[in-house]
Parts: sequence; structure tokens; C-alpha cells
Amino acid sequence: MLSSILLNIIANISILTTVSYVFVKLIPKEKTYTLNIKQKLLMIGLSSITSFILMLFSVDLPEEVIMDFRHVILIFLVYYFGPSVSVPTAFLMAALRLFWGINTTSIRTAIMYVVLGLVLPIVCKRLTKQLNKYAVLLLLNAVCVSTITINLFFLYDDFLLSALICLGLLILSSIVTITVTAFIEDLIKNLHLYLKEQEYAKMDYLTGLYNMREFNKKWKMIQADHSIATTAFAMLDIDHFKWINDTYGHANGNFILRQLATILKIGAPDNELVYRVGGEEFCLILNDLPYTEQEAIAENIRASVADTEFLLENGAGIHITISIGLAASAQQKDMKKLFRLADRCLYMAKDQGRNKVIGATMESE
Ligand code: GH3
Ligand code: MG
Ligand code: MG
Repeated sequence: MLSSILLNIIANISILTTVSYVFVKLIPKEKTYTLNIKQKLLMIGLSSITSFILMLFSVDLPEEVIMDFRHVILIFLVYYFGPSVSVPTAFLMAALRLFWGINTTSIRTAIMYVVLGLVLPIVCKRLTKQLNKYAVLLLLNAVCVSTITINLFFLYDDFLLSALICLGLLILSSIVTITVTAFIEDLIKNLHLYLKEQEYAKMDYLTGLYNMREFNKKWKMIQADHSIATTAFAMLDIDHFKWINDTYGHANGNFILRQLATILKIGAPDNELVYRVGGEEFCLILNDLPYTEQEAIAENIRASVADTEFLLENGAGIHITISIGLAASAQQKDMKKLFRLADRCLYMAKDQGRNKVIGATMESE
């Protein structure tokens, strides 16, 4: 008897931790737990199936009462994903309990899950503001066990037996809640770490712009994206930057690169499409814009760089200029050819005296 209870408890914990792993995998790769409709439905379905599996491994008590840790699923759903996921799951859990067998016990248990589904989000909202994660989850667990206790008192005349079962359930499910929470939190911590590293891998540490690797990735995405009809590249290069470095020092050179990045972000139609593709070379991607507008953007950026007084670390101000090669295509998105054309235009801009925008379209080539 005792060994079968123990085995069922271990089975419950194993199922919950396995499902928690899947839960965390379903969490979107962002720092929020906001799920889209598809993810919500998946989460609700998975939780309901898990609750059914947990019932299969429930501990049988007299009077057809079964004891398991289904409520722990509800607690996690309420805490991590909110009522839009937990309430439908609670209703499905109730329906599945009735599917298991309809009698007064199952009807009362089904009602209990519906009540828990409705009450837990309210309690959770109140507690989250005041207490830490583990305290909130433990208190939610206590609310569940109290509701289960009320349910049990309907069944057993023996007060001592009911109290013992409830105390056992409270202790065990508190342990399960803490264990599974620690497991989930560890997975989430690793997920966040991974996301942070992934973000760093895209960025250029000096300017905060996206780097060449991200530029190549984006370029492949644009080429495959049929909703983008045309694209253009504006390649920018600082004029005589070596001289600036030699005259004012490398640290001032870096400081200028950072200030230039800000100007480019402001001047670009989409500040997510500005890349540092080399030491003092940058590239803007201009999607679905008429050529005249692309030219105007490039010209505005060139002029605003020339007009800006760049600060040096000692507080003095200097002026710099940039050259821009603009390559556009009205019909196709051959990124390799565009990139080569932009590079050639940039070379021509340098050749013709710098502080210039030279543009060309692939069709005029
Ligand atoms: P041009 O007008 O022909 O472009 O002349 P330039 O001197 O700008 O061109 P060049 O390619 O000869 O030199 C680029 C310089 O950019 C060389 C290098 O010292 C500097 N540079 C490259 N990366 C960095 C960086 O991260 N920080 C600083 N401060 N300088 C850099
Ligand atoms: Mg250069
Ligand atoms: Mg240069």
C-alpha cells in the first residue's frame, strides 16, 4: 500500500517535471510569457492531457476518492501565463474528471476545479504584488489544498482521517510545487541567458548597431520574403578616418563611430535596418521605396553628418564627412549584385572627391 502510494507520487512528480520542460520550450523566445493564440491552445491542450495522465497515477483513497497533483498544473498556469490559459484548462480538467466516471464524488471534484480555476487568478494577482515567487506559489497551493479539504469533508465522517489526508497532501504538494518551480526557474534562467547571448551575437559592441553577421542573415530573409518587392543598399564610409584616428587618437575615433551610429539610426527610415559592416563602414537597407526617396534619404544623411559637430573626449568639436554608394533595383532583389554595385558606387564617390552620394540602379547598369 505504502509503496504504491510512493510510486504514484514519484510518477506524479516525474510527469510534472517532464511537462514543465515542454512548457518552458513553448514559452516564446522573448523575455515575456505572452503567448499567441496557437501557443495558448497548445498549452491548454497539453495541460489538460497531463491532468488526465496524472489521474491515471493517482493514489486511490476510500470512497472512490483519488488524490493526485493536478492542481499543481493549475497553479503554474495561473502564475506564469494568467487566466486566459488557466481558466479554460480548469474547465477541461473538470470535464475530464467527469469523463473518468460520473458520480457525486466526480461531480463535486469537477465543480471544485472550476471554482479553483476562477479563484486562483484573483488570489494570484493580489499576492504577486506583495510576495516573492515561491511564497505566492506555496500560498496558491495552500488555497488548492484547502478546497480539496472541503471536498474531502463531504466524504469522510472521520475527521482525523480527513485531516491526516489533507495534511499529507499539503506537505507533499508543497514539496512538489517547490521542486517543479525550481526546475522551471532553472530552465527559464537558461533560456534568458541563451536569448541574451543570441542578442549579443547580433550586435556590434561599440556602436550598438547590428553587425555583419546579422546583415547577412537579414539579406537572406529579404530575398526570401515575397512581400518585399524591391530593396536597395546604401553603403557608407567615413572619409579620411585613418587621419582622424591618427590625429585625435583611437579612443576619439571610437567616440565618433558611436555618434555617427546615432545619426544613421535617426536618418534611416527603419532604424532596425542599419548595420556596421566594417570598421568604419555602414550599410542601410531600404525596402520598397522609390529611387528618388532612397536618394533623398542618402543625401539627407550625408548632409546631416557634414553639418554635425562631432564631440571629442576633451569636449572639443570636429567635423567629418562620409561618402555613400547607393544601389537600387526596381525589379529584382539580387542581393549579391546590389552589394557589389553599392560598393562600386561608394568607390566612385570617394574617387570624385568624397562627401558625396553616388547612386545607380541595377537596370541602368
Ligand atoms: P577613405 O576616405 O578613403 O575611406 O579613407 P579612410 O582613411 O577612412 O580609409 P581606410 O580604409 O584607409 O581607413 C579606415 C580606418 O578606420 C583604418 C582604421 O584605423 C580605422 N578603423 C577601423 N575600425 C575602427 C574602429 O573600430 N575604431 C577606430 N577608432 N578606428 C577604426
Ligand atoms: Mg573603409
Ligand atoms: Mg573611410
